[in-house]
Amino acid sequence: MTAVRNVLVIGAGAAGTATAILLAEAGVAVTLVEINPSVSALGSGITLQANALRVLRRLGILDDCLVEGADSARVRLRAPDADATVLAVIPEKLPEGVNLPPAIGMYRPTLANRLVERGREVGVTFRFGTTADTFEQDADGVDVTFSDGSHGRYDLVVAADGVRSATRARLGVPATIEPLGMGIWRVFAPRPASVETGELYYGGACYIAGYTPTSTDTLYAFLVEDAQDRSGLTAAEKVDAVRTLAAHYHGPWDEIRESIVDGDGIHYTQFEKHLLDGRWNHGRVVFIGDAAHTCPPTLAQGAAMAFEDALVLAELLVAADRVDDELWDRFHERRLDRVRVVVDGSVQLAQWQLDGVRGDLPGLMGLVAAVTGRPA
Ligand SMILES: Cc1cc2nc3c(=O)[nH]c(=O)nc-3n(C[C@H](O)[C@H](O)[C@H](O)COP(=O)(O)OP(=O)(O)OC[C@H]3O[C@@H](n4cnc5c(N)ncnc54)[C@H](O)[C@@H]3O)c2cc1C
Repeated sequence: MTAVRNVLVIGAGAAGTATAILLAEAGVAVTLVEINPSVSALGSGITLQANALRVLRRLGILDDCLVEGADSARVRLRAPDADATVLAVIPEKLPEGVNLPPAIGMYRPTLANRLVERGREVGVTFRFGTTADTFEQDADGVDVTFSDGSHGRYDLVVAADGVRSATRARLGVPATIEPLGMGIWRVFAPRPASVETGELYYGGACYIAGYTPTSTDTLYAFLVEDAQDRSGLTAAEKVDAVRTLAAHYHGPWDEIRESIVDGDGIHYTQFEKHLLDGRWNHGRVVFIGDAAHTCPPTLAQGAAMAFEDALVLAELLVAADRVDDELWDRFHERRLDRVRVVVDGSVQLAQWQLDGVRGDLPGLMGLVAAVTGRPA
C-alpha cells in the first residue's frame, strides 16, 4: 500500500525524473509533464558527489553514469600565475564501506537522457511540450488542466519545475530569490591530455576559474566573475568574453581556451539563493528541488539536494498509507535543516570570495561533509 496511486510530476530535471522513477517502480501511476519539447539540460557539465551518486544507485543508473562520466575524486588547486603553479591536491576521501567514488563529473545532457530513459523503462508517462495550467484541490486530490486542453485528477502533484517555478506562482506561494553578485560562464570543451583531474584557480581576473572532466575526452570549464548582464551578447561576443577572461590563466587553460570557438555552447548564469520558508507542501502540491531551494554552485550540491528530496519524498509516500500532516512533518524534518546547511554553506563560500576574506573553510567544509555524508 502506498499513500498515492497516481501522481503528476511537473518538470523533467533531476528532482522530477528521480521522483517519477522511484514512484513508478513502487507501482504508482506517474505522469510527468515537461514544458520543453524534448529532454534538455543547459549548462554543459555537472559534478555529482557521493550523496547524489547514492541516489543514482537507487535509481538504477549509477553504473551507466560511472562509465559515461569521469572520476573526480581529487581536486588540484593551481595559482593564477604564468606557470599555473600547483598549490595543493585535495584528495576527497569517504569513510570506509561507502563503496562509491567521492565525486564524478558528467555531461548534463547525458545525465538528463539517462534519467528519462530509466523513467520510460519503469513506466513513467512523459508528456513533453506540456505544462500544468490550473490546480483545484480538495481533501483527496488535485484536479489539473494542462496547456494542451486536457485535464486529470491526481492524488499528489510534485512541482519540480525549477527555481522560477510557475506552479509556485500559480498557487501564490511566495519565494524570494536573492541575487548574490556573482556570475558564472560555463563551457563544454575537449579535454586536453594534461587535465588529469578537476582543477581550480582562485583569484586572478576571476573569483574562480576551473574545469572538471566529464568523460575521457571532454570537460566543462567555468569562470566566476562579478555578476553582469550578459544576456545581450552574440555567440561571437560570448566566445570573446570567455577567452578574454581565460587568457589570465595558464597551464591546461592555454589549450582549453584555444578550443573555445562555439558561442552557442557557452552559458552564463548569475548565482542566486532561495529557500522556501516553512512548509514545502501546499495541500497536495509539494515543491522539491530548485522549486523549493537553490544555492550557488560553490559546493556543487544543488542537484544532489534535488535528488535527495526525491528519494525522501518517494520513500515516505511508499511507506505510508495516506497523505496527511504526519507524512509532511516527517518530510520536512528530514529535508529542511539538511538543505539549509547546504544553502547557507554555499552562500557563505561565495560571500567570503566576494569579501576577499579567507573564512573558516575547513570548519565549513567539515560541517557540510558531516551532514551530506549521512544518508538523507
Ligand atoms: C552554474 C551552476 C552550476 C551548478 N553545478 C552543480 C553541480 O556541479 N552539482 C550539483 O549537484 N548541482 C549543481 N548545480 C545545481 C543544479 O543544477 C540544480 O540544483 C538542479 O539542476 C535542480 O534540479 P531541479 O530538477 O530541481 O530543477 P531544474 O533542473 O531546473 O529542472 C526543472 C525542469 O522543469 C521544467 N519546467 C520549468 N517550468 C515548467 C513548467 N511550467 N511546466 C513543466 N515543466 C517546467 C524545466 O524545463 C526543467 O526541465 C548548479 C547550478 C548552477 C546554476
